[in-house]
Amino acid sequence: MMAGEPRINLSPKVADEVKFTTCYMCACRCGIKVHIRDGQIRYIEGNKNHPVNKGVLCGKGSSGIMQHYSPARLRKPLKRVGERGQGEFVEIEWDEALGIATKWLGDIRKSDPKKLAFFTGRDQSQSLTGWWAAQFGTPNFAAHGGFCSVNMASAGLYTIGGSFWEFGEPDWERTKYFVLFGVAEDHDSNPIKTGLGKLKARGAKVLSINPIRTGYSAVADEWVGIRPGTDGLFVLALIHELLRNDQIDVDYLVRYTNAPWLVIQAPGTAEHGLFARDAEGDVLAFDAHTKSLAKAKSAEIAPMIVGEVSLADGRKAVPSFELLATRYLDPKYSPDSVAATCGLKADDIRRIASEIADVAFNQSIEVKADWTDWAGRKHDKFIGRPVAMHAMRGISAHSNGFHTCRAIHVLQTLIGSVECPGGFRFKAPFPKPIPPAQKPAGKGYGPMKPLGGMPLGFTMGPEDLLLEADGTPIRIDKAYSWEAPIASHGLMHMVISNAWKGDPYRIDTLFLYMANMSWNSSMNTSKVMEMLTDKDEATGEYKIPHIIYSDAFASEMVSYADLILPDTTYLERWDCISLLDRPICEADGPGDAIRHPIVQPDRDVRAFQTVLLDLGARLGLPGMVNDDGANKYPGGYPDYIVNHMRMGGVGPLAGWRGADGETFGRGIPNPKQLDAYIKHEGFWHHELRDNQKFFKFANKDYLDFAMRMGFVPNTQQILIQLYSEPMQKFRLAAEGFGAVVPPEAMRPRLREAFDPLPIWYPPYEEAMVDLKSYPLHALTQRPMIMYHSWGSQNAWLRQILGRNRLYVSSQKALELGLVDDDWVRVTSHNATIKAQIRTMEGVNPDTVWTWNAIGKRSGSWNLAPDAPEAKKGFLLNHLISELLPGRERRANSDPVTGQAAWFDLRVRIEKCEAGDEVSEPQFPTLPLPVGLAPSPNVSRYGAQFKETHGARR
Ligand code: SF4
Repeated sequence: MMAGEPRINLSPKVADEVKFTTCYMCACRCGIKVHIRDGQIRYIEGNKNHPVNKGVLCGKGSSGIMQHYSPARLRKPLKRVGERGQGEFVEIEWDEALGIATKWLGDIRKSDPKKLAFFTGRDQSQSLTGWWAAQFGTPNFAAHGGFCSVNMASAGLYTIGGSFWEFGEPDWERTKYFVLFGVAEDHDSNPIKTGLGKLKARGAKVLSINPIRTGYSAVADEWVGIRPGTDGLFVLALIHELLRNDQIDVDYLVRYTNAPWLVIQAPGTAEHGLFARDAEGDVLAFDAHTKSLAKAKSAEIAPMIVGEVSLADGRKAVPSFELLATRYLDPKYSPDSVAATCGLKADDIRRIASEIADVAFNQSIEVKADWTDWAGRKHDKFIGRPVAMHAMRGISAHSNGFHTCRAIHVLQTLIGSVECPGGFRFKAPFPKPIPPAQKPAGKGYGPMKPLGGMPLGFTMGPEDLLLEADGTPIRIDKAYSWEAPIASHGLMHMVISNAWKGDPYRIDTLFLYMANMSWNSSMNTSKVMEMLTDKDEATGEYKIPHIIYSDAFASEMVSYADLILPDTTYLERWDCISLLDRPICEADGPGDAIRHPIVQPDRDVRAFQTVLLDLGARLGLPGMVNDDGANKYPGGYPDYIVNHMRMGGVGPLAGWRGADGETFGRGIPNPKQLDAYIKHEGFWHHELRDNQKFFKFANKDYLDFAMRMGFVPNTQQILIQLYSEPMQKFRLAAEGFGAVVPPEAMRPRLREAFDPLPIWYPPYEEAMVDLKSYPLHALTQRPMIMYHSWGSQNAWLRQILGRNRLYVSSQKALELGLVDDDWVRVTSHNATIKAQIRTMEGVNPDTVWTWNAIGKRSGSWNLAPDAPEAKKGFLLNHLISELLPGRERRANSDPVTGQAAWFDLRVRIEKCEAGDEVSEPQFPTLPLPVGLAPSPNVSRYGAQFKETHGARR
């Protein structure tokens, strides 16, 4: 150093130690490096070796520090002492807390286990929680999927064997044309952002179909501001155009789909619309070579996909593609017919169809590889149709969302872009057989009896529904009943309402984990708070007698529970991001990951998963105790992660299995498995061979591997189901055929909804309310910088977005005489709220919208009672009824899956008179839970790490 130069430390030491784990600031599961200094978290960065994010870290991820040190963290188990909803608790020891829970749950299990409703939010341990519910014996289990995107998941699993996001991804390296439908900006956050960067760098076109132009839509090359709830009609018009111009991949349809399968045409009979089968039960096709009926699965035939044939018994049958083509060539699906309903121009629809066809067929690509298909045929390349699509909650959360999602999959399939280079590609363990073989368990439930399988599964027909002998639903949320026959994820939004109403029955205990159901995780929030506190006049007891809640933070739901089991933060606990659940795979190969304690809790809290296993042992649940009754997993969740096995050597983690960690996929437990994960930066990843990477549903090299890993039960080809026979079976039941039929009153709705080919119908609320009174659509979106309600309590993130506005198109504002910052009343058929507006250009003129879950209840989350989130922020949830308008008590849901129809909401807005500028409704301020210190007004976190001259080198 030269004399007189300032003394600057150019390489200050950031940390004493760096640990690798998995982010949980949203559901993407990125790999992170956590820098620790003096036992505190100094800095979080992305792990560049991690398959999900490859080093990228978003603003949420780096703000995990504030999540971990949040002043809203619960500190000790709590027992309610005042009236429910008042927030009056005393701290208790864990033994007492677990004793209370064991008593409540034990009594239920001995009498009627379905009196326990166990529902979890956005947790990532559903293979554990679902298994626990099954061992307890309650069918009343689900996670938040029914809230969010079950239409997407079910439509994919019943059509192509997987779905978007966690099930598959665009081929970012090769796609030339990328279409996004209704994608919220937080879902699949880093992967989409980095993927869009790749597409932009290569000059690929990005087209976003979304009523709102923010986030990904804002950087898209073209934004189509569609009217909410009409995406399905738009997609069917694209299909119409592709069929009309003969721009479909016939070879792909013959090889990989059920397009040639013969469908019986015998209207008015019990087999109408089912597939024609031979004596062995195999589906038939018509072989154009031999001009005869043949087994459709035979690789030797040249099956017809159009025309009509006679079956051996004289009945007529047609290939399913014939039905599809006839349906969508109908002029009612032409761009001219649908444009006005969608709020688009017909020429734009025609142009988009032609752009898609041009890229798919004139710009196709090839990837050289010697691969073998399911029938043993050799190929030397994979042919790619480089059009990729991705969809999310924006299209899913409508009462017509299942069919819209299926329509998108049909569109992808017709151009041959599923599982090909440049198209949409599956991530392991998908594709699965269509639908997966697991049926929902719940029939035959009874005292002290585990269920025969997992509570959530896939119905193939009416016989799989969970109905009592009198036809009433077995489940409290009515999943797998005639209200939601294909409810693959349950109906979380109906649990409290049904339990309060006693429809179909009353429960004893509501057990929630990470589900803020007295606030942003419920429809009709104000009424839900009343339901949670409502008492039975005869007994004086709450109508929902016991509520157990586990969360790490003092969310709004805490005040409505009787017993609080405080959870750890994601940097304090063990977790596994499992192939049995929602893993971290990418299209080039499977992977999974762990979280492990980066720092130790400084409070009397326990990881929920460990608590659940402890409760299971106390209750003596099968699989959780040894023969002598002792706890099978005394080491808690990490003990379970290593030693639990589901089937044939498959456990929660796939990496480093076998006694010495020498194998993966299947193998006996390795006592050092978690050490191996920690040594390998917290994740395991296996790269597929080049000949396994595409057409996985028909690729022998991949299917052999998938069976070895336990992803699929056999190596049979998985055929895309353009025409859905399970749907037709439900429809036949609605026509009165079969042993299990719906009540008369429900038949018209089921006959319409269970069409075996995608249809479009107006969303239910839109069809039922007076559109003159409620002329506008109202939507929510999640911002990139927040994930559900966690984000808006985070000291760093709430500085970016501390309150929400109602966004109104400039054109509509002008019509209504509104200007920026006006306060308005927003009224639906269900309620009225008050909010402040902001005008914008990039929004469909018939749509208003806001950011989701920013509004908070005063006093919650240890925010100041007059925090902007509470006084200016607001929720649309109050406006959305969990029930459809009308006299019948019907869920505001998709009729196929039960998906909550959040985005069907219709409203009107009216300017408020001048007054106090506070959002409405407001509720009494919640007290700070006992044991929590008030938040500081200024966060000085990080000051302790500040360098001083000559110190801390
Ligand atoms: S995208 Fe999600 S998981 Fe990834 S760093 Fe951001 S918050 Fe964490």
